[in-house]
Amino acid sequence: MAEKPYRDLNTYYRQIFGKKTAKISLNGGFTCPNRDGTLGTGGCIFCSAGGSGDFAESPALSIPEQIHAGKAQTAKKWEDPAYIAYFQAFTNTYAPVERLRKKYSQALAQPGIQGLSIATRPDCLGEDVLALLEELSQKTHLWIELGLQTAKEETAMLIRRGYPRETFVTAVRELHQRNIPVVAHVILGLPGETETDVLSTIDFLNSLPVSGVKLHLLHILEGTELAQWYRKGLVVPLTQEEYIHLVCHCIARLRPDIVIHRLTGDGDRNSLLAPSWSLNKRNVLNEIHHRLRTEGITQGMDIASAPRT
Ligand code: SF4
Repeated sequence: MAEKPYRDLNTYYRQIFGKKTAKISLNGGFTCPNRDGTLGTGGCIFCSAGGSGDFAESPALSIPEQIHAGKAQTAKKWEDPAYIAYFQAFTNTYAPVERLRKKYSQALAQPGIQGLSIATRPDCLGEDVLALLEELSQKTHLWIELGLQTAKEETAMLIRRGYPRETFVTAVRELHQRNIPVVAHVILGLPGETETDVLSTIDFLNSLPVSGVKLHLLHILEGTELAQWYRKGLVVPLTQEEYIHLVCHCIARLRPDIVIHRLTGDGDRNSLLAPSWSLNKRNVLNEIHHRLRTEGITQGMDIASAPRT
């Protein structure tokens, strides 16, 4: 396959592990302060019942059982990959530190697991958690994935993210000081956001020591508050053309050293209300790659055009 005009995840993992690498999505049985009443009970307006971990294994299974099941799935696609245990569902640093230690250690003890990726909120990284993460990062490959979604405060309030962007800045700096790479999650197509808003979020990430980004399309899932907004006509999903345009511009604006872990998201087929075009993920990725190629877009080529702050 031709080299991609952006820093892609497969190549990055191959540089680290020397082979194809698969992430096994886990549900550690955690909850979220945005759901358990600490910050709120409704969660972010787009968050599904599975806590944005709809593809994670069942929490009814132990961590070793989930990893075993995940490996059985990946074995259908790849022979002998490296594995990363991905704590995906809900907020995976939101528990007493000894419980966290136990879950992470169980994952790392499974054969073939060569690293951990932990998805969390930047306001759930207390000193004791940071100390545990630092300890882990000295023993294994560790990534912390932080749900930023947007750098625009008004949108963050609207989607009920539940923390100001300064909290994200502090968390990134704390993790960076401990040599722990941060992957930021960004959602394209949030209600009321323009292309300028999205590119401002990319500029914001460029100004911080983040090492990776996941670009997600806003999915409208059944059972979420966003679904109610959609039915009332208060939110309009992006068209495929709009999404491809936005993604390509984000790539052009993104610092070249930042690894792109995702160019779109997976919506759960059973609960996805809109946009339905996103179900054909292969086609979306092909269209993005085609656009990058035909327009000669490479990662970071537009940084110079970012407004000075
Ligand atoms: S922080 Fe994550 S798990 Fe919590 S409500 Fe928001 S999307 Fe859901």
